[in-house]
Amino acid sequence: MPRNRFAGHSHGLLGHDHKPPLDILAEARQQLARYPAIKLVSARADSVSGAIDDFSVLTGDGESLGARRVILSYGVADQMPDVPGFAESWGTSVVPCPYCDGFEVAGQHWGLVWSGPQSHNQARLFQHWTDKLTVFADGHDIPPDIQADLASRNIPFVDGRIVEIAHRKGHITAVNLDTRRNIAVDVLFAHPRSKPSASLHESLGLATVDTPTGIVLKVDERRQTGMPGIYAAGDLATPFLPSVTQASSQGAMAGIFAQQSMVV
Ligand SMILES: Cc1cc2nc3c(=O)[nH]c(=O)nc-3n(C[C@H](O)[C@H](O)[C@H](O)COP(=O)(O)OP(=O)(O)OC[C@H]3O[C@@H](n4cnc5c(N)ncnc54)[C@H](O)[C@@H]3O)c2cc1C
Repeated sequence: MPRNRFAGHSHGLLGHDHKPPLDILAEARQQLARYPAIKLVSARADSVSGAIDDFSVLTGDGESLGARRVILSYGVADQMPDVPGFAESWGTSVVPCPYCDGFEVAGQHWGLVWSGPQSHNQARLFQHWTDKLTVFADGHDIPPDIQADLASRNIPFVDGRIVEIAHRKGHITAVNLDTRRNIAVDVLFAHPRSKPSASLHESLGLATVDTPTGIVLKVDERRQTGMPGIYAAGDLATPFLPSVTQASSQGAMAGIFAQQSMVV
């Protein structure tokens, strides 16, 4: 269940642009078949125990797999707010990332749901894609100096909590507010909090880092967690601008450093 499974197309991965995310994964799985040392186990990892050079991974199917090193890459899950229409539109017209989907909707009327101080920078960045942007405070108090900056950029901000995303088959038509205002937009950028998709790191006692949208695992420059022999890659350990390219790059680096650490 990859994080971007709700999106029709994935963007920004060299050689795979504008492909459905699950097609990219299926292709990658087929390519692994060429490598006899790789055993692909389609099961949930339920626990990791042991220590460096002698780990055991227990799967949901009851299988126990031995490993000298382990790379955790189980990603994060976005926590949908309890707003009708939000989850139904997620990945279609309610999206998190302008670098993924900005080109597709450039010049259209964008909305941005305020999620904290980082939203100010996002509002400024979004002006590179469109000059029609509305910021939704969604119950946050936006400081007066930031309100003044938005006003100087001709970015309207709207008070009130979002109570519904009106949509047609996931395509947003309007943001409905508890102030009874309904604001029409073509796309809504939002950053719900996320949490790791599994809790193996908790039972291992691994250190984490707080980010504005959730926690991620702490790793060193070799992508090793606080526990020798356990590495982490992908959104699970990406505090800033997660993407498929970053996840692939970190997976490659974690694999290289894990292998190098076994050379005597
Ligand atoms: C709506 C949306 C659109 C996006 N569009 C883009 C885009 O266009 N371009 C881009 O670069 N990025 C995009 N992203 C970001 C992208 O989805 C992530 O950066 C990327 O998927 C991270 O890869 P990952 O391997 O770390 O995690 P994931 O892709 O989430 O994969 C984690 C995998 O771990 C599995 N898993 C979970 N728990 C366990 C367990 N206990 N045992 C075994 N397996 C487990 C999951 O089932 C999943 O298959 C988008 C994200 C969203 C939400």
